[in-house]
Amino acid sequence: MPSPPEGCLFCSIVREGSYVRKGKGFVAIKDINPKAEVHLLVLPERHVDTFRDVGEFPAREAKRMLEFVADTAREAGLTDYRVEVNVGPSAGQTVFHLHWHVLGGGPAQREPAGDAETAVVEL
Ligand code: AMP
Ligand code: ZN
Repeated sequence: MPSPPEGCLFCSIVREGSYVRKGKGFVAIKDINPKAEVHLLVLPERHVDTFRDVGEFPAREAKRMLEFVADTAREAGLTDYRVEVNVGPSAGQTVFHLHWHVLGGGPAQREPAGDAETAVVEL
């Protein structure tokens, strides 16, 4: 496995951060700049730059990662929520260590309905 890049923020957090949840190979942390009442990030311990490279995970580990995301949301008390992965800078990715946003609770969990309707009309 290639060694992770020097100075990866999320590798440091995986090594020495404070987690809200830890499992074999994965941790969940609170986002420092929450965009919803509950905004958690699931980080794999394995350094993979982006979701584009998700194939670097062995199949069983990839499955466990998805289960860890779902379990993290459940344990945070969420039944309805959004899971987001930003892939690449122009899609909003700012930290280049794969991570899953789990957003829920409160009104911020949805985009305004008006925008969605407009988008449908414009298409
Ligand atoms: P993305 O923009 O999809 O790459 O997501 C990166 C996320 O990491 C953003 O939502 C940031 O608010 C969050 N973030 C940046 N630094 C930290 C940190 N030290 N601890 C927790 N979350 C962070
Ligand atoms: Zn990393």
